[in-house]
Amino acid sequence: MAEKRFPIERVRNFGIMAHIDGGKTTTSERILYYSGKNYKIGEVHDGAATMDFMVQEQERGITIQSAATCVNWGDYRLSLIDTPGHVDFTAEVERSLRVLDGAVALYCAVGGVQPQSEQVWRQSEKYKVPKIAFVNKMDRIGANFYNVMDQMKNQLGANPVPMVLPIGAGETFDGIIDLIKMKALRFDMKSLGKTVIEEEIPADMLEKAQEYRHKMVESAAEQDDALMEKYFAGEELTVDEIKKAIRKGCMARTITPAFCGSAFKDKGVQPLLDAVCDYLPSPLDAGAAVSADDPSQKREPSDNEPFCGLAFKIMNDPKSGGKITFVRVYSGTLKLGEALLDSTIDREQRISRLFRMHANHQEPLDEARAGDIVACVGLSETRTGDTLCDPKNPITLESIDFPAPVISVAVKPKSRGDNEKLGAALHALAMEDPTFVVTFDQETSETIIAGMGELYLDIIVDRLKREFRVECDVGAPQVAYRETIRKPVESEYKHVKQSGGRGQYAHVCLKLEPQEPGTGFEFVNEIKGGVIPTEYIPAVEKGVKKALEAGPLGGFPVVDVKATVYFGSFHEVDSNEFAFIECARQCFKQGFLKAQPQLLEPIMDVEVAVPEQYMGAANGSINQRRGRVEGMEDRSGQKLIKASVPLGEMFGYSNAIRTVTQGRGTFTMIFKQYEPVPKNIADEVIQKRIKEGKVRPSAD
Ligand code: GDP
Repeated sequence: MAEKRFPIERVRNFGIMAHIDGGKTTTSERILYYSGKNYKIGEVHDGAATMDFMVQEQERGITIQSAATCVNWGDYRLSLIDTPGHVDFTAEVERSLRVLDGAVALYCAVGGVQPQSEQVWRQSEKYKVPKIAFVNKMDRIGANFYNVMDQMKNQLGANPVPMVLPIGAGETFDGIIDLIKMKALRFDMKSLGKTVIEEEIPADMLEKAQEYRHKMVESAAEQDDALMEKYFAGEELTVDEIKKAIRKGCMARTITPAFCGSAFKDKGVQPLLDAVCDYLPSPLDAGAAVSADDPSQKREPSDNEPFCGLAFKIMNDPKSGGKITFVRVYSGTLKLGEALLDSTIDREQRISRLFRMHANHQEPLDEARAGDIVACVGLSETRTGDTLCDPKNPITLESIDFPAPVISVAVKPKSRGDNEKLGAALHALAMEDPTFVVTFDQETSETIIAGMGELYLDIIVDRLKREFRVECDVGAPQVAYRETIRKPVESEYKHVKQSGGRGQYAHVCLKLEPQEPGTGFEFVNEIKGGVIPTEYIPAVEKGVKKALEAGPLGGFPVVDVKATVYFGSFHEVDSNEFAFIECARQCFKQGFLKAQPQLLEPIMDVEVAVPEQYMGAANGSINQRRGRVEGMEDRSGQKLIKASVPLGEMFGYSNAIRTVTQGRGTFTMIFKQYEPVPKNIADEVIQKRIKEGKVRPSAD
């Protein structure tokens, strides 16, 4: 069957952002069902959900991997990009936000706006993603659409505009009122909600519907001066005018059109899909893709531009043993078999297979066009975040912003013969996810894996077992400390060795300066008059970088330092690359120890929700952990404590908070920033590292 062509203005790339358990998976399932691609409804509780590819996701009941699934809805093509609900997977959220053009913010009608929803909302604002809201679970006892509207205003600072009202709530929930059509919509249960029946608005709701329609039309008029005039002149706005104005406000993020329903009970999903088409942006609205190096270089979302796209997700395909790379095409066309450039790593790549992912099948394609989201096979070297483009018209888009890992564990294969298999598996997993880092500790011969959270690393270990058939012993979680300096110093070192015939000579002077937190490392060459020949400068940089890998304090990575090489000398015969690497490494190390070195630790933003009577106990548990309480709020009938706590103190906190609150307290945490470790604790950490043989005691 020939593929139906959709003009780019009828394409919607969107995601559903939700708190875990809000009903994102169920809603996604219903979207596939109503759009006719997937006829069997798989309920989450029986683990048959089609969007959740991975086994352990189903077992844990959470969605981890972002996958893009394509459906047709009337004259529109929708790509649903899956976003994870758990904060440990921030990088997954960021990567999906980067490639989608709009989002549905989904809330539970009982739980409302929860702490994690706030984080995801903030992330989406950072990427300027227009959103519509869907209040799900209207059938649950205690469901309250209007409460959620208030929470969106108060907690998110959003401006939600109800476009529908619920008819009833909880057990009596029985459809919605469409405030544009001014009709009641009911969902025929004989057809599992597939048939939408339009009826007159129930008499007892007419007044409320009129009040809310009035507010909605006013919000629409506010988006456009001409409409405002018409509105104040007392003229009726047409359906088309209202929709256009709401769309404009949604795209400018001045309003969030709000809907409601119950995915589980098959109510309200089709109007939500209509709203995705009516109000969320098309790739055309999302605008041009801009070069990271030169903002004047742009690619318009058109097939006539040179091809460029972003690889935003890599999945291992256990069936074929290969990799599937998900690509968002921003401009031009991507053709099967044509060479393309991975401009981030400067390598030409070729696609051997191109397809669109549907929930239950892959649709082969010959080409993908501007605005498409497609899956490719054959991009063996491309990593997540890389730009792909026409080799004749290279461009590099801004890569995805990934946070540094804050926690690590040592892994060892249970059977010795599996060492090689483990290495290959970890390499494949690291290609998938840039926030997952694998290192090998030479001193202890351990493989260390590091990531954004404890749960995240659990899942990696689980995947090693299931997908790669490597079972591992796992060490205790370790905090990813960092090292830095507090004062500028100059350091000089001579590396001289005379052993038998040819000797070794190198002489390096370095200036070390502290940098702003988060700026990383900078190397500057200020050598004049060739006192160190140009050919050895890369060796000096290499030596310094080697020293950065394991800092002199505790063997932790060194960050936020600028190193300037400004003087030195060489020997015609005895100088070589190796001598300069070693010399620079020693020079940096000695300088570092004189520059008021400082251990840094990850500090987490922690939110603890407890019933009021446990507030004292919860506060105590934060104080005990060197935490700072930064605020307290009422949230859905509970107290919410916001605090900053060092990650190192948070291990085992889920049990601790359960114990002091009789099982009623919950918490979330997310990485905030690195901060200096207090001296007495830093000393303990360093002593422990010395005992473990991970670092030698410094001379002074
Ligand atoms: P996710 O974690 O956001 O993907 O949420 P799920 O779709 O897995 O849903 C979590 C739980 O809520 C499951 O047990 C669903 O069956 C249930 N659920 C989802 N939507 C609704 C709804 O509209 N009403 C009710 N009562 N339950 C729902």
